[in-house]
Amino acid sequence: MIDLHTHSTASDGTDTPGQVVEAAAAAGLSVVALTDHDSAAGWDEAAEAAAGAGVALVRGAEISTISDRVSVHLLAYLHDPTHPALVAELERTRASRLTRLERMAELLGEDYPITWEDVLAQTGPDATVGRPHLADALVAAGVVGTRDEAFATMLRPGTRYYAPHLAPDTVDAVRAVRAAGGVPVFAHPGASQRGRVVPPETIEELAAAGLAGLEVDHRDHDAPTRARLRDLARALGLLVTGSSDYHGAGKPNRIGENTTDPAVLAQIEEQGELAVLRP
Ligand code: AMP
Ligand code: ZN
Ligand code: FE
Ligand code: FE
Repeated sequence: MIDLHTHSTASDGTDTPGQVVEAAAAAGLSVVALTDHDSAAGWDEAAEAAAGAGVALVRGAEISTISDRVSVHLLAYLHDPTHPALVAELERTRASRLTRLERMAELLGEDYPITWEDVLAQTGPDATVGRPHLADALVAAGVVGTRDEAFATMLRPGTRYYAPHLAPDTVDAVRAVRAAGGVPVFAHPGASQRGRVVPPETIEELAAAGLAGLEVDHRDHDAPTRARLRDLARALGLLVTGSSDYHGAGKPNRIGENTTDPAVLAQIEEQGELAVLRP
């Protein structure tokens, strides 16, 4: 069983990269991808753990992008993590995420007992920061009970605490991932509860720019959405993946709850610059 989308403490997951790999092994997975937001910081630790746990590792990332004011998450697999243009783009996003989160913490601090230091205390070393870390600070301060409660209330876009961060255009990001030897897959393209989703015409444009696949089997897609995306993938010649989007204790998503066909992983590996690390 193959799960191609997980997060660790290198971004907003609650397991360390090694613990993600151990969770994958305990769930009986043969392959797991580590796809932290805008970062490859967890790769080395995950690779070491994978060798010991007998799990194959796909090195990846989930890149924050914007398409026509819609937030698009782009999974990148098996890319060169030192490619200068991609590195520069991801550094820019991470820096913007940091100033944006500090701004949100400042605004929240006007109404709730949290400080920027409280938020930083919730982040791992070299972590890509995000709203889940604000949520964790609010939970630690007893303001809300869970991350989910914070997202349903004060962390939603549209509240007076919300601030956006910079991110590259999705077409540019698809090209940058390909230039870095990576394989770009559109993460949860139909997850309408996250906000607006892109129309099929945009996915067609991304396919023309080098998009390799659509993450169809994801808990944020209902059955009709999956059927519609599967048809679109077939029409555009895109691969279809399935994944958990595991965040440790930060979300109910269980590792391995959705999986990817081995034949699809073989095609991803064929297109990628790096190899899948096999034990
Ligand atoms: P940000 O990157 O700061 O925009 O925050 C978005 C991140 O928060 C995504 O990676 C989601 O996985 C996570 N997230 C979104 N909604 C929730 C929720 N209800 N509970 C926990 N995490 C969430
Ligand atoms: Zn996340
Ligand atoms: Fe995402
Ligand atoms: Fe994710």
